[in-house]
Amino acid sequence: MATAAGAADPNYPTRSIALVVPFAAGGPTDVVARIVGDHMSRTLGQQFVVENIGGAGGTTGMARVAAAEPDGYTLGVGNMGTQSAAPALYPNLKYDPATSFAQVGIANFTPQAIVSKRATRPRTSKEFIAYLKANQDKLSYGHAGVGSISHVSGTLFNSQFALKPALVAYRGTAPALNDLVGGQIDYMVDQSLNVIPQIKAGTIKVYAIAAARRLASLPDVPTSEEAGVDFIFSAWNAMVAPKGTPKDVIARLSDALNKALDDPATVKRYVELGSTAPEAADRGPEGLQKLVESEMARISPVLKEAAAK
Ligand code: ASP
Repeated sequence: MATAAGAADPNYPTRSIALVVPFAAGGPTDVVARIVGDHMSRTLGQQFVVENIGGAGGTTGMARVAAAEPDGYTLGVGNMGTQSAAPALYPNLKYDPATSFAQVGIANFTPQAIVSKRATRPRTSKEFIAYLKANQDKLSYGHAGVGSISHVSGTLFNSQFALKPALVAYRGTAPALNDLVGGQIDYMVDQSLNVIPQIKAGTIKVYAIAAARRLASLPDVPTSEEAGVDFIFSAWNAMVAPKGTPKDVIARLSDALNKALDDPATVKRYVELGSTAPEAADRGPEGLQKLVESEMARISPVLKEAAAK
């Protein structure tokens, strides 16, 4: 029987823990969830079983987490989309990112990258944007569903440069990226974490990293500013539990997450993936709560402004 909210089992965890990833396997949220989940399972001595529940920009899976028994045996990894942008886009959203969860902690930050299918001819970002403008009735943009990060970053990018491509929604940016590699869609603004392996393999083209600094793993790719494109966008992924999960369970999970982030293997993997772990001050439930509240307040007006353009 599940332990009542507020009273924790001192032996927690005594069985496997479901880790809901609200997007397709192999995409950015899935990759981050598996990196930290694997390590946390070793710390806590129980398996983390990843469940990919895609749909509706990740809100289907996160609604499932919000409604789950708050016993520490169902957790979720949401992101800037599901945990801050979604309320502005779904009037009937079944959860509130700031109040429906017990926050565990931020898992990573990753800047977006502006990428296109390999056959795209323009060489520079400026030429690319001019090309997108000139051909927009023929071009398509792939994203992970309304409210996902790639949807939000694409909305802001397209509105900033007055572009109106066909929008193609997927259950995550893993399948969207497959179609970009296959040339079925034309461009994406996606987490560098997801696109770095394909950029390195030469199967897609990258124009810029939407960050103030270049990535150590892609030293030759310019920042958006260097490329003369005024577009900065940083994404994040984070772990949550249902509201009412006992405080000491959250503390154990949050400690295990911090251990995962500090492991040299994670540090190395994050560098390869162009990701950064949260600084000490931003870790734990409070760091994530602050981020969710500030991001919700920041993104909602920006999205409204983009929609009005
Ligand atoms: N995080 C999503 C995924 O894992 C992508 C997104 O939010 O854009 O596919």
